[in-house]
Amino acid sequence: CGIVGYIGTADAKEILLRGLEKLEYRGYDSAGIAIANESGIHVYKEKGRIAALRDVVDTSEESEVGIGHTRWATHGVPSQLNAHPHQSTTSRFTIVHNGVIENYEQLRREYLEGVEMVSDTDTEIIVQLVDTFSKDGLSTEEAFRKTLSLLEGSYATALLDNTDRDTIYVGKNKSPLLIGLADGVNVIASDAMAMLQVTNEFMEIEDKEIVVVTRETAQVKKLDGQEISRDSYIAELDS
Ligand code: GLU
Repeated sequence: CGIVGYIGTADAKEILLRGLEKLEYRGYDSAGIAIANESGIHVYKEKGRIAALRDVVDTSEESEVGIGHTRWATHGVPSQLNAHPHQSTTSRFTIVHNGVIENYEQLRREYLEGVEMVSDTDTEIIVQLVDTFSKDGLSTEEAFRKTLSLLEGSYATALLDNTDRDTIYVGKNKSPLLIGLADGVNVIASDAMAMLQVTNEFMEIEDKEIVVVTRETAQVKKLDGQEISRDSYIAELDS
């Protein structure tokens, strides 16, 4: 239902939780965040309110990078297990996703034989495909672009890679997603309102584009890898 992401130098987990709270009015059945720091990527997720999620997040844990999600279940019951973020079996990749993957059963049969699924979501297929294609020798960006080019349906999605915790990979098709830009800080949000706490400068993403987001850069590309330049705009909104 809602997506947030942050890469910068401030306390990512608090910014993500505040961002998710700004999206609460849209309705949701569960919520979660994944934060990256020197020891790896840590997922916290709960069924129910953001307040319940806050209760389980380790407030002493440092983080400058992370992604967050509020879920409105379409595939799989509302539960802690089906809440996002989802990880690949190897735990290398972590994903949040809004939307519906219509051909997930077909993709699973075609590419993921022998991969044990943890959740009942259509979303998990995305992260397992990225993992499978990266094992085949593709870079993370290539594996992400290949995966998205196979998906039918709608997605706004953000991916973390445990082997490069200074990059967030973002993709979109028929679901809203924006990149927010600031000095040494970039954010992602399904609704600008969630990240006005950080910036009011945003960049749109078109369908079937990805963005490779670091603290200093946000490079838009087509699914075939072609680089796109995109202007930003100032959002005239009150937080
Ligand atoms: N289809 C996904 C699920 O059921 C995402 C739902 C959403 O957009 O929140 O988990």
